[in-house]
Amino acid sequence: MTIALVTGGSRGLGRSMALHLADHGHDIILTYRSKNAEAEAVATEIKAKGRQAIALQLDVAKSETFGDFADTVNGALQENWDREDFDFLVNNAGIGINAPFMEMSEEQFDQLTNIHLKAAFFLSQKLVPLMKDGGRIINISSGLVRFALPGYAAYGALKGAVDVLTRYMAKELGPRGITVNALAPGAIETDFGGGVVRDNPEVNDFVAANTALGRVGLPDDIGGAVAMLLSPEAGWITGQRVEFSGGMFL
Ligand code: NAP
Repeated sequence: MTIALVTGGSRGLGRSMALHLADHGHDIILTYRSKNAEAEAVATEIKAKGRQAIALQLDVAKSETFGDFADTVNGALQENWDREDFDFLVNNAGIGINAPFMEMSEEQFDQLTNIHLKAAFFLSQKLVPLMKDGGRIINISSGLVRFALPGYAAYGALKGAVDVLTRYMAKELGPRGITVNALAPGAIETDFGGGVVRDNPEVNDFVAANTALGRVGLPDDIGGAVAMLLSPEAGWITGQRVEFSGGMFL
């Protein structure tokens, strides 16, 4: 039996990842920042599929709490699974702040840095000791690394750093048989960035018109992609950035 830990599993892409992974036979530890009810609902849905699931609170902006979080995960593994390790880590939790380059504040920049780059680095650093040899890590990147849209200078640059971090993690964790890859979604209909891709018809049409497959992405496009990258058949892929965007801005 395998256990996957998905950060930000209460909504959006993380929720879909957790459900798809459960469909593929994995048990789930999911985290949320504030939406406890949504997170518990996802855990309940997973249990109804016959898999084990728990929801833990974690603010990925607060790296000083990651050591205590690792202790909590350790305790939860022993209590719920009678195990001391888990198999897969998906660094997914995140927010979007759209602000023009000339207007983004340092405070906004620091918040994005803490959530997208510092968390991927230091949460992984604290959790890797709890991972089984031969485990897998996926860092969620973004299509905005490859193409530029106004307002995403900081976000895109940080996700680019996540791609580079991914290669270094793959190199240094390879001796333990742990693979590390970056999964880059294109624009997907979630609450991300105030739900703009889903709720603003002009933005939605713009993305669809610039996507080879002719529509905006849906959470299940990414949930299924994560399950695929964590399948036994994908075990020889490491240190790669893989984009799942339906062919956005080809
Ligand atoms: P979402 O629907 O807004 O969900 C965000 C998730 O992250 C929620 O579970 C939320 O928890 C959690 N979260 C947010 N801030 C957190 C924090 N400080 N600490 C801990 N958890 C936090 O967003 P999404 O679209 O699923 O985005 C997930 C990931 O995909 C992000 O890394 C994002 O950058 C990336 N991405 C998204 C898109 C897109 O178009 N949607 C495209 C490319 C990449 P609560 O529910 O408790 O608030």
